[in-house]
Amino acid sequence: MQNLLHNLNEEQLAAVTLPAQSALILAGAGSGKTRVLTTRIAWLIQTGQTSQSGILAVTFTNKAAKEMTARLSAMLPINTRGMWIGTFHGICNRLLRAHFKDAGLPQTFQILDSQDQLSAIKRMLKALNVDDEKYPPRNLMYFINSAKDQGLRAKDVDAADDYNRKFVELYELYDQQCQREGVVDFAELLLRTYELLSRNQPLREHYQARFRHILVDEFQDTNDLQYKWLKLMAGPHGAVFAVGDDDQSIYAFRGANVGNMSAFEREFKVENLIKLEQNYRSHGHILDTANELIANNSKRLGKNLRTDAGHGEQVRIYESISDLAEAQWIIEQVKNLIAEGWGRSEIAILYRSNAQSRVLEHALFSSAIPYRVYGGQRFFERAEVKHAIAYLQLMDNLHNDSAFLRVVNFPTRGIGAKALEQLQDAARQYNCSLYAAVPYVAGKAGSSLNAFIKLIEGARFESQHMPLQEMVKLVLERSTLMTHYQSEKEGADRIENLEQLVSAATLFVSEEGFGLDAPAFLGPQALASAGTGITLGDGIEIIDADASLVTLMSPLSAFLSHASLEAGDNQAQAGQDALQLMTVHSAKGLEFDAVFITGLEEGLFPHENSAKEEGGVEEERRLMYVAITRARKRLYMTFSQTRMLHGQTRYNLRSRFFDELPEDSIKWLSSKVVKQPNSWFAHPKAAWVETPESGNNKIAQGFNRQGSEWRIGQGVAHAKFGEGVIVNIEGDGGSTRAHINFGKFGMKLLDLSVAKLEKV
Ligand code: ATP
Ligand code: MG
Repeated sequence: MQNLLHNLNEEQLAAVTLPAQSALILAGAGSGKTRVLTTRIAWLIQTGQTSQSGILAVTFTNKAAKEMTARLSAMLPINTRGMWIGTFHGICNRLLRAHFKDAGLPQTFQILDSQDQLSAIKRMLKALNVDDEKYPPRNLMYFINSAKDQGLRAKDVDAADDYNRKFVELYELYDQQCQREGVVDFAELLLRTYELLSRNQPLREHYQARFRHILVDEFQDTNDLQYKWLKLMAGPHGAVFAVGDDDQSIYAFRGANVGNMSAFEREFKVENLIKLEQNYRSHGHILDTANELIANNSKRLGKNLRTDAGHGEQVRIYESISDLAEAQWIIEQVKNLIAEGWGRSEIAILYRSNAQSRVLEHALFSSAIPYRVYGGQRFFERAEVKHAIAYLQLMDNLHNDSAFLRVVNFPTRGIGAKALEQLQDAARQYNCSLYAAVPYVAGKAGSSLNAFIKLIEGARFESQHMPLQEMVKLVLERSTLMTHYQSEKEGADRIENLEQLVSAATLFVSEEGFGLDAPAFLGPQALASAGTGITLGDGIEIIDADASLVTLMSPLSAFLSHASLEAGDNQAQAGQDALQLMTVHSAKGLEFDAVFITGLEEGLFPHENSAKEEGGVEEERRLMYVAITRARKRLYMTFSQTRMLHGQTRYNLRSRFFDELPEDSIKWLSSKVVKQPNSWFAHPKAAWVETPESGNNKIAQGFNRQGSEWRIGQGVAHAKFGEGVIVNIEGDGGSTRAHINFGKFGMKLLDLSVAKLEKV
């Protein structure tokens, strides 16, 4: 036991060894919350207070769950496979698989990711002839998800007016559609489990008796339903050990409710509230910067952080003239760091919104530095992978209409819009799935649809005894996806991804313990009758036991859930020693030796949407606090005067957060490289770029032949904008661009090889 506890400080030790009651560990970033939670699990098991099956641990991401499981394996001589450590979604998926009947789901129910959910909604609106301008699909999706996140079914939602009543009605119809197709969205996973356990007393009591220890990391970001779910799961006797940091609550937009912390203290009768105040992650200047920034927030539970690590280096701040220049500068710094011996995977570049990664990726790609993007387009979201997955989904559940529509005519097999319309009409008429409606379609349309069905059924039959990876190969071939992409000019990448899918399947079955030979279709029924089911006192049989995926799902179902739930790293790049790129949101809980926080501009970080919401800026500040506290030794913050976002050049003010940092802990690397004229900021909306596409090349060439040399301060005249002054020039050769102040037209960024400019 000594070795488990010896590297904990006094407060951490107290937290780890608390008696089996509910407790709240409230502490700032890097104070060892996650370490404490993991060590507590090990301690509970090692001291015989519970077996590993008595533990339920909730993490925020799949990645965090994996890490926790790996740490536990290192701490204890136990086999951690099958332990209940996962995200809320992962855990609910497991429960629903085990109790699909009681939950009213088909055994092979499938999970819709957000992209699938949106297309299911669009499809429904179309079928119902609902005006999607009046009722935008995205708004409906948001409406449905936030209702579900609060634990509300359509019948429970109070609609204020007719407009809202329509949303409620559509919510109800959407749920019916999902039920008919055997699919559940993310929020449904939780709500369905919650309803299952509230309704089913024996089942509830079984799990309450089983999980006497529930541990939750990142508690500040639980939403209302998750909180209710925890309450139900814990029952009257369970002990919930929650760790969190109110200053890191950054998911309000997804329904997270930091108020759950005080509710928890009250409702779980928490006698033990422990604060951890020693930070083990960051050097002094970095920590001071974080502390001073977050002190600007008003609603805080209040706690301090200190470090013994010494001041370390000051935070480096750099201002650039454009996003391109910012990316270039960052790459230079990264190269220096690598040359100095910093590990690539210990360097992270963080940004507020995903759209910012493109410029960075481009620069990294050109400089041949290996990098890995988290949370960008996920491997399983790539179109070709989605297509292949849709074939697999259909083989597992013929009634999944989303999957059906995705591939019925892809690759093309002559099934046109008309045929599909006929099919959809029939499905509506007989209230059945598209698959089931095929026999009702006559004529040529009917026979080509039939051929498609034969294809799926044939592949299903042929692969019935095959292991998963063989089945995937068969699908790629039978579907003709492979040959389709082989004939496509730019199909090489796609083929590589499809091949990667076979490897992903192989890796999955071996990691999850299915065995490389296990038939993909062989599901839990067979396993249950082999004796893994347990019977409760009153004759209700449930499959629980150690509840590893193997006992609950067929390899195929498990793999399909994984494809929907996996936080989705780019698998092709996994395992490399690569630079880490991600949004600040996805950096939560992680740490790196060196961190770049980029794009610190008003409108971007803090995000412009935050101004519209109450408490919005405070949430952005917490996000900034999360970003800063990811860094161990070195921290850079960058911002740029101009940025191309969503096809527009934006002129930016630097982020207000710079004014909230302690002078002593920061160092300005750029002494305001360019003097900005006042009007620079007077036209923040000015966004007009003249590029080779938009310009008139003839005039430009003629103009350039004059060999004119441009310089800052030069007066110019433009046909459209009148007279102006060049305030900055960037790039060279054919791609020289000038920032020109055109007075009442504001700042423009013009490409000098095309712009119709004259000197004045
Ligand atoms: P966050 O709020 O960012 O999630 P956290 O509070 O969960 O942070 P951890 O990630 O658990 O913090 O710990 C931060 C770092 O400090 C880790 O590298 C961890 O190993 C280290 N650490 C924690 N406690 C100690 C300790 N007592 N001695 C040495 N290192 C420690
Ligand atoms: Mg943590």
